[in-house]
Amino acid sequence: MSQSRIVVLGAGVSALTTALLLSKNSNYSITVVSKHMPGDYDIEYASPWAGANYLPVAKEGTAPETYERNTWPDLANLAENLPEAGVHFQETVIYRRAKDVGTAIGDWFSELMREDAWFRNVVPNFKVLGKEGLAGGIDGGTSFTSVCINTAIYLPWLVSQCLRNGVKFQRGIVSHVAEAASLHHSGKRADLVVNATGLSSLKLGGVEDSKLYPARGQIVLVRNDPGIMATVSGTDDGDDEATYIMHRAAGGGCILGGCLQEGKWESQPDPNLAIRIMKRCIELCPKLVPEGKGIEALDIIRHGVGLRPMRKGGIRIEKEIIKGPDGQAVQVVHNYGHGGYGYQTSYGCSQQVEKLVQEALQQKARL
Ligand code: FAD
Repeated sequence: MSQSRIVVLGAGVSALTTALLLSKNSNYSITVVSKHMPGDYDIEYASPWAGANYLPVAKEGTAPETYERNTWPDLANLAENLPEAGVHFQETVIYRRAKDVGTAIGDWFSELMREDAWFRNVVPNFKVLGKEGLAGGIDGGTSFTSVCINTAIYLPWLVSQCLRNGVKFQRGIVSHVAEAASLHHSGKRADLVVNATGLSSLKLGGVEDSKLYPARGQIVLVRNDPGIMATVSGTDDGDDEATYIMHRAAGGGCILGGCLQEGKWESQPDPNLAIRIMKRCIELCPKLVPEGKGIEALDIIRHGVGLRPMRKGGIRIEKEIIKGPDGQAVQVVHNYGHGGYGYQTSYGCSQQVEKLVQEALQQKARL
């Protein structure tokens, strides 16, 4: 049987995880085409900026819940068995303040904050914190074992696994999604395109999805290591400012965050926000610095800004036949709009894409 030719457009965590799962099927011949690749840092490329950790935020009974639930076993397997992927287990503490209900951050984290969270039986060691040990202003909390992903190792690792399975990589920029069909490494037209272009699907010809919008995130990467991950449901510095700490695997440094600024495209770090982030993180986790010290004791590697590819209505995983400017139609499977949860949904989403790719190719064969 001849192989089906697939072009995966994009090289963020969504595209690379999809390419990896598809590449396990020897019936597929795959080319990844992308403007940015692992190693690049750019405001149009969200994946390198992520922490990244697994803190479920999906509502119970929804498709994203399935994506998050189905992603945990793969991330846990990487942390347990494949240290070269740059993923490690980390104990995490989640603090809830009653006054954050209804704020942007409070809403984002509303499922994460629940003491009866749906994922309590998914992640190991889920516990509700006793009220007695809580600091002033904190009304409750939970702790569990999560993972933290060093994206600087993990994204190249995904590329290396794809290469091992025969996937070809090439740089390319398309202005219309259907153009990608002419970029398969064989020189022949691709049978199917996977569109994993993140926030760029807002402008990409043939897609132009106006439901997409950015939620700006700003972080400070430091060398200090507090030994745990911690998150709180909000801050007193503004509804869209957040506080979270996570320590990346394999010398990746510690991420201090953050914010969720919806509709903001600014690519440069705001120095005042950076100071607020550092102060809040020390307040949340005093062990970040030696006793009695402040932000001067933080050893900064770099400041960063990334745009989360948010989408009204949530992640889009759908198949569609799209006609290109040359009049030729191509089967497309979309996988974009992963907001602030692209890593923690990556395997679940890619499994769903895999099913749609199979269906689309079967449909094409019947035509
Ligand atoms: P992207 O990474 O943006 O990739 C898009 C790709 O498409 C790029 O390679 C780009 O070059 C390519 N492309 C776009 N247009 C074209 C074109 N026309 N032609 C060719 N190529 C094109 N998620 C978590 O799960 N856990 C976390 O802890 C977490 N923390 C985060 C912290 C911050 C500060 C930020 C900003 C995000 C965080 N996220 C987290 C969210 C996560 O980073 C995103 O959901 C995820 O990276 C989206 O990946 P993607 O592959 O869909 O898009």
